[in-house]
Amino acid sequence: MSDKKPTPADLIQIDFNPGKKDWMDAKIDFEKKRGNWNYQVIPKSAEYVGMPYPRKWSPVDEDWKLPDNWQKIIFEGLRDRLDKYRSFKIFMDICVRCGACADKCHFFIGSGDPKNMPVLRAELLRSVYRNNFTAAGKIFGSLAGGRELTVDVLKEWFFYFFQCTECRRCSVFCPYGIDTAEITMMGRELLNLVGLNIDWIGTPIANCHRTGNHLGVQPHGFKDSIDFAVDDLEDITGIRAEAPINKKGAEILFVIPSADYFGDPHYFGLLGYIALFHEIGLDYTFSAYASEGGNFGLFHSNEMMKRLNGKIYNEAKRLGVKWILGGECGHMWRVLHQYMDTMSGPADFMEEPVSPITGTKFENSKSTKMVHICEFTADLIKHNKIKLDKSRNDQWRVTYHDSCNPARAMGLLDEPRYVINSVCNHFFEMPEDTIREQTFCCGSGAGIGTDENF
Ligand code: SF4
Ligand code: SF4
Repeated sequence: MSDKKPTPADLIQIDFNPGKKDWMDAKIDFEKKRGNWNYQVIPKSAEYVGMPYPRKWSPVDEDWKLPDNWQKIIFEGLRDRLDKYRSFKIFMDICVRCGACADKCHFFIGSGDPKNMPVLRAELLRSVYRNNFTAAGKIFGSLAGGRELTVDVLKEWFFYFFQCTECRRCSVFCPYGIDTAEITMMGRELLNLVGLNIDWIGTPIANCHRTGNHLGVQPHGFKDSIDFAVDDLEDITGIRAEAPINKKGAEILFVIPSADYFGDPHYFGLLGYIALFHEIGLDYTFSAYASEGGNFGLFHSNEMMKRLNGKIYNEAKRLGVKWILGGECGHMWRVLHQYMDTMSGPADFMEEPVSPITGTKFENSKSTKMVHICEFTADLIKHNKIKLDKSRNDQWRVTYHDSCNPARAMGLLDEPRYVINSVCNHFFEMPEDTIREQTFCCGSGAGIGTDENF
C-alpha cells in the first residue's frame, strides 16, 4: 500500500455528490491520490512466475513503460476472454444501469467516489468493449457509451480494478446476477498482459511458487512454526499433541493459510486445530510443500489460480491421502468451490470425504474432495464427539462477521453459527444487512489490505 494514509478526520468527510467532471474523463492524479492505490509488482517477483513485461515503473510516473503495441495486446486479450468466458460477454451486454448495486460497495460507501459504484467500475471496461466490439459503439462512439482505450483509461483501470476486493456483495443485489468481481478479474487479467499488477499480489504469488506459501516461509521454518505451536499448546494445556508433517499414507491432508502459523490472531486458530485433532485422534498430516491454502492467483488470473491450486492436489497425490481438510481462508474456499472443478478437477485419485469419527459423508465435497474445518467441526458437535462447556465462555458477548467467500461463494452460513452457539451462551447477530449473504467485506480481500493485516 502506498505510504500516505488518511487520518480518521479525513475518513468521515465523505462527499457523496458526484463531481462535475464528465465520468468519461479518465485522468487520475496518482500523486494526489496516494493512499488509494497499491505499489507496483517488483520485477524480480514478476520474472519468477513469468508475468509479461517485468520492469521498473511506478504509478506516480508519467511513463509506465508500456510495450509499444500495448493497445493491440489489450484488444486481443479482451477478444480472447469474450470468446472464452460466456458469463463475461453477458455481463458486458446486459447491465440496464438500474443502480441497485450502486450503494452496496464498501469502497463507494467509504469514499463517495462514483467510480467505486460497482456499475461504474464495470463501465470503465464496458465502455471500451462497447466502443470496439459492438456495432453501436463503432458507429456512434461516445454517444453510445463507447470510450477510446487511451493510456489514461488504462491507468484508470489500474486505479479502480485494484480498489475492488472481489467480494461480490454487489452481485447479491443485482437483479440480473451480474458479478462485478468477475469483471474486475477480467480487468486485472488485461492489465497483467502489459505487465501491470501490484506487489501485494505478485510477491506472495512468487513466494508461493518458490517455497509453497505466500510468506516465503521455507520448509524448515514451517516445521519450526508447527513445533512451536505444539510446545505452546503443551504450556497452556499440559497435553503434548502430535502435529505430523509430510506423513505419507495419512488419511487426511490438512491445509491452512500461512497466516495461521505466522500472525495473531490466526495463530490461536492453529492451536485450536491441533488440540481438536489430538482430542479426536485424527489421522492427518500437514505438508511443508502445500503449506498455503490461500490462493492469490484468484486476484491475478485464472491461469495463476490454477497453478497455485494444483500444488495442494499434487501434494495430496504424493502423500496418498484419502481426502483434504481445509482451515479457514476466504480465497482458498472461493477457488475450491467456484473454480476447482473446471480448472483441475475432479480429483478422482482421492475418495469422497467421510468423517472417520462420525461416519458422515460430505457429499457437497464429492468432486473437490476437500472439507471446510467449520463443517467438519459442526458435524463432530452434532454427533457429541467433543465435550464442550458453554459456561466457560460466559464472560464473552459474541458476534460473527461472515467471511465474504465462504458465505457468498459456498453458502457456509449456518455451520459457523451452530459452532458458536455450541460454545457460548451469549451470541448476538449484527444488523440483518451486514450478515450472511449480505455481509460486508472486511476490506482486505483480493490482495489489497494484506500489509495492514499484519
Ligand atoms: S444492479 Fe446489475 S443491472 Fe443494475 S446497475 Fe448494477 S450491475 Fe447493472
Ligand atoms: S465485488 Fe465488492 S469490492 Fe468489488 S465492486 Fe462489488 S461490492 Fe465493491
